[in-house]
Amino acid sequence: MKQVLVIAERRGAVLDEGVFELLTAARALAGGGGRVAAAVLGHGIGGLAAELARGFDRVFAFDDERLAEPDGDGDAQALLPLLARGGFDAVLLAHGNLGIDLAPGLSVRAGMPLLADCLELHWAGQSLAGTRAVYGGKVHARVVAAAGGTGAMATVRGGAFAPAGPGTVAGEVVAAALPAEFAPRRRPLRTLRPEAGEVDITQSERLVAVGRGIEDEDGLQLVRGLAAALGADLCASRPVVDKGWLPRSCQVGTSGVTVRPKLYVAVGISGSFQHMGGIKGSPFVVAINKDRAAPIFGVADVGIVGDLSEVVPALEAAIEEQKG
Ligand SMILES: Cc1cc2nc3c(=O)[nH]c(=O)nc-3n(C[C@H](O)[C@H](O)[C@H](O)COP(=O)(O)OP(=O)(O)OC[C@H]3O[C@@H](n4cnc5c(N)ncnc54)[C@H](O)[C@@H]3O)c2cc1C
Repeated sequence: MKQVLVIAERRGAVLDEGVFELLTAARALAGGGGRVAAAVLGHGIGGLAAELARGFDRVFAFDDERLAEPDGDGDAQALLPLLARGGFDAVLLAHGNLGIDLAPGLSVRAGMPLLADCLELHWAGQSLAGTRAVYGGKVHARVVAAAGGTGAMATVRGGAFAPAGPGTVAGEVVAAALPAEFAPRRRPLRTLRPEAGEVDITQSERLVAVGRGIEDEDGLQLVRGLAAALGADLCASRPVVDKGWLPRSCQVGTSGVTVRPKLYVAVGISGSFQHMGGIKGSPFVVAINKDRAAPIFGVADVGIVGDLSEVVPALEAAIEEQKG
C-alpha cells in the first residue's frame, strides 16, 4: 500500500492547475489501497486547502505569514519534518518554478533521491522509476531511484498526465505547524508583475503563434491581422523572441511559458519538442507551414501546407467574411 504526497504550487491565491495532473499521477502510483496527500504552503490558504481536499485524501496546510511568498529554501525547511515522519513512498512536484527551486535541496535534506522532469512514473519493484526526455527530446531515458527506506521524489513535466476531474473525496485538512527552528535564509524584496498592457498568454483561450517562418519583423503585421480576426493573442517560438520581434513574455516552450489555450494556430513553426512542451492540455491545433514534412503536422488537428504570405491573409479574409 503506497503513500504519495503532492506538493502543490500556487500563484498568489490560486492553485496551479498542474496539481490536478499530479493528482492523476499520485493516484496511479498509490494504487487501489494507497493514499494520496497534498501539502500547500502560504498565508491565508484555507480555501486552497479545502479545494485540494476534494481530490486528495489528506491535505497538510502550512498557513503562516512567513510563507506568504513561495521560496524553495523556506518551504523546504517547513516540509522537512513532514517528510521525515510521513512515510511517503513518493513525493511529487510540478517541474515548474517552485518545483525547480524546491525539489533539489529538499531531496538532499530529506535523503530522498530525485527524478527530475519526468514524463511518466511507475514502480520498478519497490523503487520509483520514470521516463525523462534528454538531448532536447531526441531520446527518452528510463531512470530509477536508488532503493532505500526513505522513498523518492520526482518533478513532473506539465501536461504529462491528464488532470484529474472535479474531486468528490472528502479529504481531511490537517493544520501543519512550522518547525521551531524555521529560519528562511532568503528575504523577498519585491514581486515583479507583467507590465500594464502586456498580455498574460498563460490565460489566453486563443493563441496565434509566430515562428521563424515569418522571416522578418514585417511578417508580424500579417499575423497580427489573423490574430485580430480570431480574437486571439499573439505568442511566439524562441527564435522570434531571440530576434527581439516579440517580448520574452510571449515565448511558448520549455524555456518560455506554458500555455493552455483552446485554439492554437502555429504560423511558420516547425513544431520542435521544446516549443510543443509549452502547450498544455489538448488545444485544437491549426498549423500553417510550407514544408509538408514539418513535425508540427504530426500534432495538428488541421494542417495547411502553403506559404504563410498567401495562406494567412486568405484565412483572415475568410474569417472576416464568416463573421460578417
Ligand atoms: C535548451 C533549449 C531550450 C529551448 N526552448 C525553447 C522554447 O522554450 N520555445 C521554443 O519555441 N523553442 C525553444 N528552443 C528552440 C527549439 O529547439 C527550436 O529551435 C525552435 O522552437 C524553432 O522555432 P521555429 O519553429 O520558429 O523555427 P524553425 O524550426 O526554423 O521552423 C520554421 C518553420 O517555418 C516554416 N516556414 C518557413 N518559411 C515559411 C513560409 N514562407 N510559409 C510557411 N512556412 C514557412 C519552415 O518550413 C519551418 O518548419 C529551445 C532550444 C534549446 C536547445
